Amino acid sequence: MSDDAALLERRFRVMGRNAPLFYDRPVHLVRGHGVWVEDADGRRYLDVYNNVPHVGHCHPHVVEAIARQAATLNLHTRYLHETVVAYAERLTATFAEPLDAAVFTCSGTESNELALRLARYRSGGRGIIVSDFSYHGNSETLAAVTTCFPVPEPFPVFARKVPVPDPYRDRQGRDDGALGDLFAAKIAEAVRSLKAEGIPLAALLIDTLFANEGLPEPVPGYVAKAVAIVHEAGGQFICDEVQAGFGRTGDAMWGHQLSGVTPDIVTLGKPMGNGHPLAGVIAPAELIDSFGKAATYFNTFGGNPVSAAAGMAVLDVIEDEGLLENSRRVGAHVRAGLERLMARYPIIGNVRGRGLFFGIEIIADAGEKTPDPALTKRLVNMMRDRGVLLSRIGRYDNILKMRPPMVFTTADADLLLATLDNALAAL
Ligand code: PMP
Repeated sequence: MSDDAALLERRFRVMGRNAPLFYDRPVHLVRGHGVWVEDADGRRYLDVYNNVPHVGHCHPHVVEAIARQAATLNLHTRYLHETVVAYAERLTATFAEPLDAAVFTCSGTESNELALRLARYRSGGRGIIVSDFSYHGNSETLAAVTTCFPVPEPFPVFARKVPVPDPYRDRQGRDDGALGDLFAAKIAEAVRSLKAEGIPLAALLIDTLFANEGLPEPVPGYVAKAVAIVHEAGGQFICDEVQAGFGRTGDAMWGHQLSGVTPDIVTLGKPMGNGHPLAGVIAPAELIDSFGKAATYFNTFGGNPVSAAAGMAVLDVIEDEGLLENSRRVGAHVRAGLERLMARYPIIGNVRGRGLFFGIEIIADAGEKTPDPALTKRLVNMMRDRGVLLSRIGRYDNILKMRPPMVFTTADADLLLATLDNALAAL
């Protein structure tokens, strides 16, 4: 048996007690393949959480591309390199006009930071609007606008947070149009309040799936209404695709395509290199060029030849293995199964999500929809003990989060559903 307690103690000592880990009994993983990971004692877990190994853990095509390029050439980004340029061309071709140029970075944080700089440069403003209960990164600015967990940084005077309507909790007789108007009214109020303090708007920074916020069912048209107000105020719409991108939703390559609005700037991360640290910003070439004249931006590791090879291989697998279609098809199967569980277990108040990204709300009573974070935490740990890895999100920490690698099959889905059924029955 592996001595996980000793390893945990060593980790606490050298990395601090707060370096976050999942589960009451942290999992000590040593290898992965497809949707499976294995711990130090050879026990296998179905991975229903990780979007970083987007096309599956250790996908041989990605591993081979990284290894081949690492054995050929890897260096910083200020040289000409065919694969780097070809990757930028292929990636930008998946976006609508005028999103036709890419800047590569190493993390979602760096991408969002650069996007804010681009938005501030283009708009001349400094104001930022984010959604309430969001997370966009760990730099000083992005930590300060983090609203989904406590941070020591004061919420900046140049920022405002707006609540995202959740049709499950906020409907109160409102139809979709009225819910959309509610969000738009909050955005307009934030713009006015910034203006009143002499701070012109630079950007609305949101993830159009509102993943960290708890993945509420999208209200048709509400992003469009909000973005119209932002544009009128001279601001830019930055869409954070760190979680929603690369076909996760099944319906489209990019989450924002569901909202019908083309962002001014898009940020990418997590799944982009299947675990290799590759991220980026997609924006009009004209903006990137003119910003580049005003400010030299370079990123030593961002989009180096090995990263570009990893990114290219991820796009190959998404295409070759039909992973958008897989996400749509298997996702529909998971959703139907979760809805069947909801009909049987009153503690499931709501099922939300699309493609291979789901949440279920755990509640203490159906009438009041009282969130039950303690039970949700218990369920996450019970699932871990039964060999299925998932986590939780949302304002009340009561939404089970399921977001497996995109190669998830219907058989994997059935195992997830049966295990969830078993855990719910054991409560
Ligand atoms: N944006 C969103 C929506 C995220 O969920 C995260 C990370 N969870 C980030 C940005 C930051 O990405 P990174 O950790 O790569 O800096």
